[in-house]
Amino acid sequence: MIDFSGIKTPVYFYDLDILSRTLALAAGEARKYGYRLHYAVKANNNDVIAGKIKDYGFGADCVSGNEIRRVLDWKYHPEGIVFAGVGKTDEEIKLAIENEIFCLNCESLEELEVVAEKAREVNRRVSVALRVNPALEANTHSYITTGKDENKFGVGLPHLKNALDYCKNSPGLDFAGLHFHIGSQIISLEPYRNLCKKVNQIWREFDIPGYGGDMLNLGGGLGIDYCEPENNPIPDFKSFFALFADNLDLPSRTSVHFELGRSLVGQCGRIVTRVLYTKQGVGKKFVIIDAGMTELIRPALYGAMHRIVNVSSSASLERYDVVGPVCESSDVFARDVLLPRTSRGDLVHILSCGAYAESMNMDFNLRTKPGSVFASEGKIVAEEK
Ligand SMILES: *Cc1c(COP(=O)(O)O)cnc(C)c1O
Repeated sequence: MIDFSGIKTPVYFYDLDILSRTLALAAGEARKYGYRLHYAVKANNNDVIAGKIKDYGFGADCVSGNEIRRVLDWKYHPEGIVFAGVGKTDEEIKLAIENEIFCLNCESLEELEVVAEKAREVNRRVSVALRVNPALEANTHSYITTGKDENKFGVGLPHLKNALDYCKNSPGLDFAGLHFHIGSQIISLEPYRNLCKKVNQIWREFDIPGYGGDMLNLGGGLGIDYCEPENNPIPDFKSFFALFADNLDLPSRTSVHFELGRSLVGQCGRIVTRVLYTKQGVGKKFVIIDAGMTELIRPALYGAMHRIVNVSSSASLERYDVVGPVCESSDVFARDVLLPRTSRGDLVHILSCGAYAESMNMDFNLRTKPGSVFASEGKIVAEEK
């Protein structure tokens, strides 16, 4: 049991052993099929975490110019960097071209025109992929589906031929292939099976090899177990990659890429908080902790559930609403959860906070940014304030 007595809370806590085991499994399973992996940096841009992921040989998936700068600072190889995003600015496109990253994933004809123009300006060729909106249901929260007709992402199938022709006829553009990313926190493999079928169909119907396309990027989105993270700390990468190997039917020279975010880092992190107050409300009891939506916005943003444990008490169970200190009624982590009888000063951990917690931290209410601590073999090995 780690000693948090000298640690200022709230704090982002990372278990580097869980991270290593996760990375080793993902990299090992992908290697069986020659799949290439990129880390979706927006999930967690903490230096220690991102550095370790690079050390396991991952490329990077960036969604802003600043993320590209950052991953270059961390010494990710330019040839492993992909750049996605529905609204890339001219400056960001130029930065990507000048640094000769692996591929820009473009999302509209207008964007392709700007990319071609910027490539001309700096007299370089640029490798582009088209992000396709495959009009598929990912069966996840509506705020984190990205591959349906109504979503803003990607080139719709009715416009794909036009975009492919534009790539072919633009001397500065090297068409690499197609990119898909259908959503996040996808916990059943069924949407991915459907994605494979759709990709096989599109590859043939649009004759992607005929356009010189031999790169397929399937994005990320593999979910993690937020209900029982202790029993299920590492996602089933074996089944995940095997599903693609079994269901994709493409020319053998096609190089297949993935962009994993949450599934790599989600379970290695937790937020360690202290109870500030307990309060008897009308008809319910509140536990008020020192972390709020500013440290973890997922519950307020998408109604996400995180497992919460009181590690200081083993008294009999009582029902509480666990809430933060921020001046918003949505600053609630859980309603009517059972915790051992809880008192001021108890340490409460919010589990599965390695992804989309620290990277979405904000200073609303001018709250202080928490530090991070890193542990291995049951001991704290590094601390960032
Ligand atoms: C966010 C994002 C990812 C990673 O998604 P996860 O659900 O965290 O795996 C991958 N690709 C693109 C284009 C993204 O925007």
